[in-house]
Amino acid sequence: MTNIIFFGPPGAGKGTQAKIISGFLNVPHLSTGDILRSKLLEKDNLASELKEIMASGNLVSDEILNSIVSSRLNINSNKGFILDGYPRTLKQSEFLNEFLLKINNSINYVFNIEINFEILKNRILKRSSEENREDDNINVLETRYNEYLNSTQNVSNFYKAQYPNIFYDINGSLEIPEITDKIKEILKKSWKSANFLNIFSWLYRLLSCIHPHSFFLDFIMARISGVNIPTNKKIYIALTYIFGIGKKTASDICKDASIDTSKRVSELNDEEINKIRDLIDKDYSVEGDLRRKVSLDIKRLNDLGCYRGLRHRKKLPVRGQRTHTNARTRKGKAVAIAGKKKVTKG
Ligand code: AMP
Repeated sequence: MTNIIFFGPPGAGKGTQAKIISGFLNVPHLSTGDILRSKLLEKDNLASELKEIMASGNLVSDEILNSIVSSRLNINSNKGFILDGYPRTLKQSEFLNEFLLKINNSINYVFNIEINFEILKNRILKRSSEENREDDNINVLETRYNEYLNSTQNVSNFYKAQYPNIFYDINGSLEIPEITDKIKEILKKSWKSANFLNIFSWLYRLLSCIHPHSFFLDFIMARISGVNIPTNKKIYIALTYIFGIGKKTASDICKDASIDTSKRVSELNDEEINKIRDLIDKDYSVEGDLRRKVSLDIKRLNDLGCYRGLRHRKKLPVRGQRTHTNARTRKGKAVAIAGKKKVTKG
């Protein structure tokens, strides 16, 4: 079963790609925009309320969206799903997570289509002449884009922080087939590594039946805070494989647990590993907890609209670094910024 979420601003091409990938994987495509537009045809009180909200470019209430999505996911849950246009608020993403947990399901891929406002504007204008959508005009686009920046981008940032292994940024300014190829490439690559992991875990299970204390098992596994740390490395290096633990913290943990930092993980006994596990659980915030905390902190700054919040929104360094000529983006992929002067030779 494959469960996918597409994120991106209005006009980024989420719907187009979701439809293609739905055909490619034979997995149902759930576009909340399409579902709401079909509801408009019913011409009842709800329809006129929805029409007004959607025509203005604002978001429809979380309650309506959550009930639509949960009823559709229930029906299609055995086949997987491709969500396009949902979740758009943090409340919706909380609802989705709880809902999936209840039906013992989870998200496998998050594709975030990135694109700048100028390209969007042109695309939306083109689409308005083709599809006759009431919300496809420049004034409404600005409201929709702001809803995206103020609300949906926080949701995608949350997923990026929380599930970095399944989160993929996609360049939305490429041609449609190129974007599709990139997405297919990611899907195929992860199927290959999933197959490899299956063989690996099968081997692990076989080995643990034949020889529970085999050297190979020691080499393969040491699990702390939900992370498999390498057993052939020194403990103070191996601990840095856990998100939130750097070399200094790793050394502190070893000191508190009275373990020599130069010992390799494979040389530690169960008692020492448990001691480290307990210390981390008790005193440190790592992995999912830390990722959640960081994304909530960023959301708080965003909501306050303070300098650091604005800088996060623009994906620029937040601590006053000079960005006129250098350090224009924070770590990660470079982001194009309108108005940047090109350096000319000579
Ligand atoms: P879309 O076709 O995805 O751009 O959606 C069109 C409009 O439907 C949006 O501008 C919103 O008014 C509404 N809508 C779609 N999905 C959602 C959602 N998840 N939450 C709130 N409103 C939504």
